[in-house]
Amino acid sequence: MPASEAKRVGVIGAGMVGVCTASWLQRDGHSVFLVEMGQPGHGASFGNAGCFNGSSVTPMSMPGVIRNVPRWLFDPVGPLSLRWSYLPAITPWLLRFVRAGTPEKVRAQARALRPLVGPTLEALKPLITAAGAEDLVHRLGHLYAYRSAESLKKDRLAWELRRENGVEIDQFDADELRQLEPALSRDYVRGVLVRENGHTSNPLKLVKRLLEHFLQSGGEIVRARAHGFRLEGRRIAAIQSDAGDLPADAVVACAGAYSKPLSAALGDRVPLETERGYHLMISDPESMPRIPTADADGKFVAMPMETGLRFAGTVELAGLAAAPDWRRARILLAQGRKMLPGLAASHPEERISVWMGHRPSLPDRCRCSVRHGPHRTSSTLLATVMSG
Ligand SMILES: Cc1cc2nc3c(=O)[nH]c(=O)nc-3n(C[C@H](O)[C@H](O)[C@H](O)COP(=O)(O)OP(=O)(O)OC[C@H]3O[C@@H](n4cnc5c(N)ncnc54)[C@H](O)[C@@H]3O)c2cc1C
Repeated sequence: MPASEAKRVGVIGAGMVGVCTASWLQRDGHSVFLVEMGQPGHGASFGNAGCFNGSSVTPMSMPGVIRNVPRWLFDPVGPLSLRWSYLPAITPWLLRFVRAGTPEKVRAQARALRPLVGPTLEALKPLITAAGAEDLVHRLGHLYAYRSAESLKKDRLAWELRRENGVEIDQFDADELRQLEPALSRDYVRGVLVRENGHTSNPLKLVKRLLEHFLQSGGEIVRARAHGFRLEGRRIAAIQSDAGDLPADAVVACAGAYSKPLSAALGDRVPLETERGYHLMISDPESMPRIPTADADGKFVAMPMETGLRFAGTVELAGLAAAPDWRRARILLAQGRKMLPGLAASHPEERISVWMGHRPSLPDRCRCSVRHGPHRTSSTLLATVMSG
C-alpha cells in the first residue's frame, strides 16, 4: 500500500478477534494500536472450545428449534437455560431469533456465513507461521457423535446446509466410530466427521503468541476502557477512553459481547446479546478423545487441550452482569463422564476447573452493521468497522 494511504487504526479488544484483526491491518501497512480494558486474551478467548470450524454455517435459529425450547428450558441438564428475571430484557432479541429461523432465511444465512468462516484456517495460517505458533494449531477435523440414527436424521437440514455450501463430510456407523475414536462410549452409534476443521490446543497461549508478534512488529497496546468516539464532521478522530483520547483515523470494535455500547455510541443499534457458555476442565484426564468431538444431542464438545480435557458448551441467557451458575459447568462433567467412560467416576477438586464466558450473539448469527465513512451497509461481520 502507498504510504499516503496508511492509517492509524485503533482496534478495541485484545481477544482472538481483535489481535488477528490488528495483525492483518498491520500486515497491510497500517499503524495499529489495540485498546484493552482487561487482560489480553482473558475474555471469551480464554475459555472457548478452541474450534476453528469453517463448516459452522448453520445458524442457531433453525426451523423447528422453537419446538425444542420448552423441553430444553425445563430439563435441568438441557443445553439451554434462561434466567427468568432476564426474560423482559431479552424478549425483543428472542422474537427476532424466532423470526430468523425460516427455511429460506437459514439458507440465506448459511450462504452468507460460508465465505466468512470457511477460510478461517487459511486466513490464520500466515499469522500463525509469523508468530511461530504452529504447535498450537491442529487440523484433525471435528467429529459429531450421535446416540441414534433418529437423532442424526433430525439434524438433516443442518447437514444439508453444510453440504450445499461445499462442506465435505464422512459418515461412520457404530463400529467405524469406535475405530476412529476408541475413547467414546458405545452409546454413540453414528458419527459424522468434518475433516476441514481445525482447533487450537491452548486458546489463551495462541492469543498471547499472536499478540507478542504484533507488538514485536511495531504494534502497540493501550490498557484502557474505550467508551466512545470523538468525531470531526462524519469522520473518526479519536477513541475516547479512560486513558484520555486516543487519536485514530479508523477504528475496529472487536470487543466481543461488549461491542453493543460502542456501536450505539455511533448510532448503530446492533441486536447483540450474550449467549453465556461454560467450560469444565480435568487435568491429567484418564481418557481424552484424539479428535475434537461434539455430543450432537447434548450440544457440548470434548476438546483435547495441552492443559487437560475441556468440556465446553451450553447456552445460558442471562445478560452480561449476572453471576455464573456453576451448576451449568458441573452438568458438563456428568455428561462428559457418560461420553468418555474411561474417565474416573470422581476427581479431586484440584484437578477440576470451571469457567464462564460471553459469546457475542446476533439473532440471525450474521447481521451486523458496517460503516465506511458515510456509507452504511448490512454485512455478516461480527465487528463494527468505522473508518474515516
Ligand atoms: C463456552 C464457549 C465456547 C466457545 N467455543 C468456541 C469455539 O470453539 N470456536 C469459536 O470460534 N468460538 C467459540 N466461542 C465464541 C468465542 O466467543 C469466540 O471464539 C472468540 O473467543 C471471541 O473472541 P473475541 O476477541 O471476539 O472476544 P473476547 O475474547 O471476549 O475479547 C473481547 C475483548 O474486548 C475487551 N473489551 C470489551 N469491551 C472493551 C472496551 N470498552 N474497551 C476496551 N476493551 C474492551 C475485553 O476485555 C476482551 O478482552 C465460544 C464461546 C464460549 C463462551
